[in-house]
Amino acid sequence: MKSKSPGVNTICTHVGELLDEQHKGAISPLYMASSYAYEDVEVKRYPRYFNTPNQEGLSKKVAALEHCEAGLIFGSGMAAISHTMLAFLQKGDHVVVQKTIYGGAFNFMVEEFPKYGIAYDFTDGFSEDDFRTKIKPNTKVIYVETPSNPLMLITDLKMIVRLAKEFNLVSMIDNTFASPINQTPADFGIDIMIHSATKYMGGHSDICAGAVAASEENIQRIWNVGKNLGGSLSDQTVWLLERSMKTLGIRVKAQNRNAKKIAKWLDAHELVARVYYPGLKTHPDHDLAKKQMKGYTGMMSFELVPSVDPEKFMRTLKLIKQSMSLAGVESTILSPAKTSHALLTPQERERQGISDGLLRFSIGIEDKKDIIADLQQAFEAITRDQLQNSTV
Ligand SMILES: *Cc1c(COP(=O)(O)O)cnc(C)c1O
Repeated sequence: MKSKSPGVNTICTHVGELLDEQHKGAISPLYMASSYAYEDVEVKRYPRYFNTPNQEGLSKKVAALEHCEAGLIFGSGMAAISHTMLAFLQKGDHVVVQKTIYGGAFNFMVEEFPKYGIAYDFTDGFSEDDFRTKIKPNTKVIYVETPSNPLMLITDLKMIVRLAKEFNLVSMIDNTFASPINQTPADFGIDIMIHSATKYMGGHSDICAGAVAASEENIQRIWNVGKNLGGSLSDQTVWLLERSMKTLGIRVKAQNRNAKKIAKWLDAHELVARVYYPGLKTHPDHDLAKKQMKGYTGMMSFELVPSVDPEKFMRTLKLIKQSMSLAGVESTILSPAKTSHALLTPQERERQGISDGLLRFSIGIEDKKDIIADLQQAFEAITRDQLQNSTV
């Protein structure tokens, strides 16, 4: 069946745009007002109420991309996560959380939930039983993040929706790594989609923002909390994010294409012990990823063989920069053991499958031959050094 709704790139470019009726400019004007006339509207326009013209416009784009009725734009991914969680959880409630989630979300739950009397359990794994055994009579929310960081493990969205229906839970997903280009969980029945727009949606490593998409009813509930907590995004940044999102589709598809080729190249390299990329047939969750994703993202991790010093390898790269964040147009790399997962004990890192030689790789939109050439020269330089050291 052919759908009448616009294609994804048309949504990126146009949905939610504001018309410049005064001057007929081609793009959304930026309305910086923090004060508006109030006679003709039910909720007066005010930046903290998430309803300035630019905020509302961009919410529509996010909602359309996520196949949802409504959206909200936040000051950060963590604002989106915290506001959404607190909208659906109160004293005495319990939430089941997937084993590995973004570190900031983990800290939020562990450090803040006890203050509110909200209980949580992390699953031991990704299977239906892992989730099912943690559900209690007072469980209200089931929270997942797929693909996971940094091993790109996949959670079965149909299974999560089945459990949510059986136990009457609200299902939430952190959809940051996939982006709505590669995964639209609402199609499977997930209730609430959360994004760090700092990553793919922004895509240029210059914006901190968050977004949520859901039904009108659920968005209203998040809004009720949001107006009190105050985590909305400044219109200037909303406008920049709208501009960035016009190219979300073409950026992510280019990153998908690059990543698939580069994952294969790395997988075949003798100094690489293992590649974690859901687009590879050797990935344990490849079949599941194929079922529920439209593309395999630009994110991957790989493990160097023990004889290669990961720090030295990263220092030897020229085009690919060492960088904390991800999903920009530029390729970046980091060591999870030294950065995102540095606060975990070595035992806990091992339990999560994060070795010291593991590198997380965010593929950009550069020409793939140049990315591969950079990896190649780094491997060659390291091999040369090792040969020299072994002969002295
Ligand atoms: C970065 C990130 C977040 C947090 O987003 P901020 O914009 O930094 O607050 C949440 N989830 C995932 C998967 C992330 O990568």
